[in-house]
Order: sequence, then structure tokens, then C-alpha cells
Amino acid sequence: MAECIFCRIAAGEVPSTIVYEDEEIVAFRDLSPQAPTHILIIPRKHVPSVSDLEAGEEAAMGRLLRVAGEIAAKEGISESGYRLVVNCGKDAGQAVDHLHVHLLGGRRMGWPPG
Ligand code: 5GP
Ligand code: ZN
Repeated sequence: MAECIFCRIAAGEVPSTIVYEDEEIVAFRDLSPQAPTHILIIPRKHVPSVSDLEAGEEAAMGRLLRVAGEIAAKEGISESGYRLVVNCGKDAGQAVDHLHVHLLGGRRMGWPPG
């Protein structure tokens, strides 16, 4: 999708600090970090949200989590812990309609989230 900011980041058309990429997945640092480590992990394929996932996309979504774990290890936060967040829709405050996993760590998180 030409007008989607995350599609444009994945295509290299918009600059970002990419920390991981392969054929299916791109991970880059959030522009407005909410924790010492704040990385967004996205599928290259434009899927607006979890609500739009289709049959056959389970493995690709599972890979997002696997990559999140690998990046957390590289960031040195596996031991201290981290949070994975997927905002979905209006009430969750999803601002970018391209499915993404937030990887947040490096500080103690509150619960429940706001
Ligand atoms: P959401 O609220 O949709 O779950 O999160 C969207 C996230 O994308 C926000 O944390 C926001 O800071 C981040 N973001 C929005 N635009 C850009 C951008 O152009 N570059 C990067 N690196 N992050 C962005
Ligand atoms: Zn997109």
C-alpha cells in the first residue's frame, strides 16, 4: 500500500533504524520510544490489524513473536524482561493501520496498561 507509512519503511522509502529484516519481517526502532528499548516488528505484507488476519497466516504471525524474542536477546533484555504489545483498533489506540508488535523493555512496566 503506497500510502502506508510502515509499508514505506519496509520498502526502504522512508528512513528508519532497522534492527532486523528478512523476506517476511522488518523490525525498526520506534520514532517516539516509550522505553529504553522500543522496537516495532512488522510483516512486510500489509495486514491492517489482527482483526484482518486470514487463514494461512498463522505461521507468519508466529514468526513475528519468534523474531521478537531473538531481538530481545540481542538487546540484552531477555533476562530483565520485556513486553510485547499489539494494539488493535480504536479503543486500544492503534494509530498505524499496519499490524505491528511493539517490543518494549529496559524499564519496569506498570500493569494494567493504560
Ligand atoms: P500504534 O499506536 O499504532 O500501536 O503504534 C504506532 C507506533 O508507530 C507509535 O509508537 C509511533 O511512535 C510509531 N511510528 C509512527 N510513525 C512512525 C515512523 O514514521 N517511524 C517510526 N520509526 N515509528 C513510527
Ligand atoms: Zn502497510
